[in-house]
Amino acid sequence: MEFKRCARCGCFFVTDGGVCNACAPKDRLDMVKVKNYFEENPNYSIDNISINTGVSAKNVSRYLNNGINGNI
Ligand SMILES: [Zn+2]
Repeated sequence: MEFKRCARCGCFFVTDGGVCNACAPKDRLDMVKVKNYFEENPNYSIDNISINTGVSAKNVSRYLNNGINGNI
């Protein structure tokens, strides 16, 4: 078992994902938002995507780094 730190709220948890169970539904919603936006605007910067989707820049870069096309 491996303890991880939730990428959203910072609490410690045990699972395979990058966020805790409480944050998982929100995280998926944000990821879909960012994915859709990114597909329409692939040249936009993380800051721009963040401003236009309302998703924090930290989360936007996490989704992009995780390979947004592979994980949804
Ligand atoms: Zn969390």
